Amino acid sequence: MKIDRVDVIHTAIPLKSSFRTSFGAISAQHSVVTKVYSEGLVAYGEACPFLAPIYSYECVGSVQTVLGSFIIPSVLGKEIAGPEDFMDRVGFIKGNNHAKAALESAIWGLRAKIEGRPLWQVLGGTNPKVDVGVSIGMQPSIEALLKKIDGYLQEGYRRIKIKIEPSEDIELIRAVRKEFPDIVFMVDANSSYKLTDIDFLKRLDDFNLLMIEQPLGEDDIVDHAQLQSQVKSSICLDESIHTVDDARKAIRIGSCRIINIKYGRVGGLLNSVRIHDLCRGAGVGNWIGGMIETGIGQVIKTALGTLDNFVYAADIETSDRFVVEDVITPDLSQTDGYLDASVEYQVDEEKLNKYTAEVSIFKA
Ligand SMILES: [Mg+2]
Repeated sequence: MKIDRVDVIHTAIPLKSSFRTSFGAISAQHSVVTKVYSEGLVAYGEACPFLAPIYSYECVGSVQTVLGSFIIPSVLGKEIAGPEDFMDRVGFIKGNNHAKAALESAIWGLRAKIEGRPLWQVLGGTNPKVDVGVSIGMQPSIEALLKKIDGYLQEGYRRIKIKIEPSEDIELIRAVRKEFPDIVFMVDANSSYKLTDIDFLKRLDDFNLLMIEQPLGEDDIVDHAQLQSQVKSSICLDESIHTVDDARKAIRIGSCRIINIKYGRVGGLLNSVRIHDLCRGAGVGNWIGGMIETGIGQVIKTALGTLDNFVYAADIETSDRFVVEDVITPDLSQTDGYLDASVEYQVDEEKLNKYTAEVSIFKA
């Protein structure tokens, strides 16, 4: 495939309701969508590192810069054999995984079009039905949280995840378990604990949690190994795993029993499949994590989620969840807790234009 043109599109879609973060209120979903043209075909990719570098060192601005200055010049006007070749060509760029994933995910889209097969089959998926769970942010009260959980269970979601942090009393988790004794339930700590909190984390063993996601430092695997050896709950790593080699080392020293795969965090779909295959061989389960992408990214995640070692429900946001409207048609929706990767989605160009904050066009 010859790369004839790449559009780098910064999208900003208003959220249904804004939320506060440590750097201020967020009122829109920001993403970097790529539109790649190759010999009469067009495919889209996406990276969603957030507007500020709060999840990793990357952000919308860094992705735009690295794409425009380094990644696109490496492939524009050139014949690319596919995602493997693309990753080789940008291998000189250290890190910047979200930026690589923004274009790599579109290269997969081109490959699928050339092969005339859906992306989920090209990636190696076996069953287009993908279990979907829901991740619930911090709520003002326990009552508000219980009400939210009840609503999502009514909608059919197959797994409930809540965010926890040290200021939250264990009563939050106890209350959820008391109200919903049988649900598939997990917590995400987003690196907010330290190994010195081990006594608190041991107490979570009483609540039959599916997993505790990323309790310790975002760059750590060593303390997590010590923690995993002392708690019954399964530890899942998210922020700590950026490469196939990170996954290999974490598995080797017993840092976790589960790895969450976000294709942006690991530099694209090729690395996602490689980590998935490594984990399957080691008996470590996977699931699809999310960065609150537009429908373009959510559909890519749904395709990836069809691979057979994604044994836990995915964090894939349906089109009606956060934003006022999505940029794909039809809307991505779940039925009875499943998403269907065999549905054919199109990008709605009119809506994409409507929510384009900035676009840079690179032509061969
Ligand atoms: Mg997480």
